[in-house]
Amino acid sequence: MSIAIGPLIYEEEQHHHLVSLTGEKLHGQVEHDSCIITYQADQSDRMRFAARWHEVLHIIDVLYSINLDEDQVTCLASAIAAAVIQNKSLNWNEERNS
Ligand SMILES: [Zn+2]
Repeated sequence: MSIAIGPLIYEEEQHHHLVSLTGEKLHGQVEHDSCIITYQADQSDRMRFAARWHEVLHIIDVLYSINLDEDQVTCLASAIAAAVIQNKSLNWNEERNS
């Protein structure tokens, strides 16, 4: 799959044992130069969905020079993912078909 954000298209990949440079297990990671989002392969669908929103917010932050810090990205991503999961009206395709 891929995600279009502004003028960019990010390809999505999965990786087993996705870790940070310090060895910390990651749910997701975005590489801005190559436009690739990588997710931890062995996580639940909801965790991947939350990780997707987390990485999307990092991309929006960089693309629009917002300057969010990591805690802000984490909070916003969690809140947005939960709102989208809990409200069909926040899904454009669902809204158009109702
Ligand atoms: Zn992050």
